[in-house]
Amino acid sequence: MKSREARIEKLRTQQQNSKNHKEYQAFLTEINTEKIDKGKIEEDWLKNQEGVEKLQNEVKTLTQQVEADTKTCEATKQQLGGRLSELQAEVDRLKPLRDQAAAAVPSQARDSFERLADRHEGEAMGSIGKPDRRREEYICNSCNMSLVADIYNRLHSRDEMVLCPNCRRMLYIPDELPPELALNTKPPRKPVAASTEAEE
Ligand SMILES: [Zn+2]
Repeated sequence: MKSREARIEKLRTQQQNSKNHKEYQAFLTEINTEKIDKGKIEEDWLKNQEGVEKLQNEVKTLTQQVEADTKTCEATKQQLGGRLSELQAEVDRLKPLRDQAAAAVPSQARDSFERLADRHEGEAMGSIGKPDRRREEYICNSCNMSLVADIYNRLHSRDEMVLCPNCRRMLYIPDELPPELALNTKPPRKPVAASTEAEE
């Protein structure tokens, strides 16, 4: 734009010094052409300027967003770091107790336990449950599969490992199911023989 202005100035001077009307007119035409060109350049420049401002605003918004996200990220990192060291401390605290308990278990049972724990994300054992207090019917609490009626006796009186036939976890009797609650109730419903409420 500056070079156009300089050129227009130069043409004006030349125009003032023109020797005749024809030359004067020729300079005038040239000056007008230069002015139109200058106007076009100005318009383009304004348009570009608008674009630049828009982009600058976008950059500003994005920068603010990045700053906010970075703060959130830092806070989350700190929280996770704190939680991680808490969990690690708990693992460190429980490890000797766990090792001690494991040492008391016969090696074959311990191996089975480790294998099952690997397969079930640490949950190697499944407690048995008695959904209906009046019925001697049991389920595996881990997978809800019905179990054979004598499962309680097998676990309670015999020292053998019984796996759930469905999820293959090692079954055990939970503390809340002592013999007085578990046993001496009605035998299991026979699947075919219909029992009605009137019998109860
Ligand atoms: Zn199961």
